[in-house]
Amino acid sequence: PTATSRKRFISDADLAGISITNPTRRLFGKSGPTKLDVAVYYAAVGDFMLPHILGRPTSLVRCPTGRPQDCFFQRHPFTGMPASVAGFEAMSSEGEPKTYLSVEDAKGYLALAQFGVVEFHSWGSTRKRLEKPDRVVFDLDPGEGIGWREVVEAAVHIKQELEALDLVPFVKTSGGKGIHVVVPVKPKLDWKKVHKATGDMAARLAATAPETFITTMSKGKRSNRIFIDIHRNARGHTAVAPYSLRARTNLPASTPLNWNDLETIDAPEDLNYSSLPGLLATSGDPWAQIDAYARDLPLISGK
Ligand code: ATP
Ligand code: MN
Ligand code: MN
Repeated sequence: PTATSRKRFISDADLAGISITNPTRRLFGKSGPTKLDVAVYYAAVGDFMLPHILGRPTSLVRCPTGRPQDCFFQRHPFTGMPASVAGFEAMSSEGEPKTYLSVEDAKGYLALAQFGVVEFHSWGSTRKRLEKPDRVVFDLDPGEGIGWREVVEAAVHIKQELEALDLVPFVKTSGGKGIHVVVPVKPKLDWKKVHKATGDMAARLAATAPETFITTMSKGKRSNRIFIDIHRNARGHTAVAPYSLRARTNLPASTPLNWNDLETIDAPEDLNYSSLPGLLATSGDPWAQIDAYARDLPLISGK
């Protein structure tokens, strides 16, 4: 869809009530972006981002003082939370009822951005079908000695392997050093089965290029290799949402890309709060059709 035909999620009415406290407070240092910059960014990308977070349990990174060491991860309702953000009860993975958060409309989303939320992290399932994931992530975590080009090559290799399994992989930068290969799946399997299936797939992928990939968490073995982290696909875990900013210098964004464009990116940190709105206005959301490509996750047996 073109920029002109795409669905609007944020209306002028939603934007009308903006009132932001401490708009000039700077994040991460003297010449860093301001709280207002964050709110303006999220308003600008909302039409692209909202389809990917609406109705999903979502955790937040808040940075109330603007100092990086004071940022924290928030999974549950909090004091001062905008009333338009939904809290809902679900069993925690430890088996106790807990209240989780989800963004249900543009109003709640904009309120969080104005409140000072910097990052959004979502589950791979929706509230409607909480126990059946519809997106899985292969989180590529480069170890010491691995450069951006190598991560890109690895992502393209994994894309080809996933396509050979009749899946349709999508790609985004993590906003950090890595890449997330995200696969839409039919919400049929529960979290345990999905976690196991993606683990088996990662083992298979790693075996196709053992000099490049590892699938064990052990930090020691990661140097000069890329860890295929499938643990975002465990119940209660999250991955940074498409278009979310990251709470670090210059606010890089976790940026969905077309596979062809991935290879044109020299430095992922150039995709950030100031550059991305302009790029998106001309390119549109490369993930707009992602849900239409959901397939069944293959159940290959592990070692
Ligand atoms: P990178 O490319 O640098 O690996 P990333 O987003 O893949 O970026 P991390 O920032 O290390 O990786 O975070 C890993 C995941 O763990 C995130 O996707 C997030 O959803 C989750 N996470 C991050 N911080 C916390 C936290 N404090 N508590 C729980 N989970 C967290
Ligand atoms: Mn990662
Ligand atoms: Mn990881």
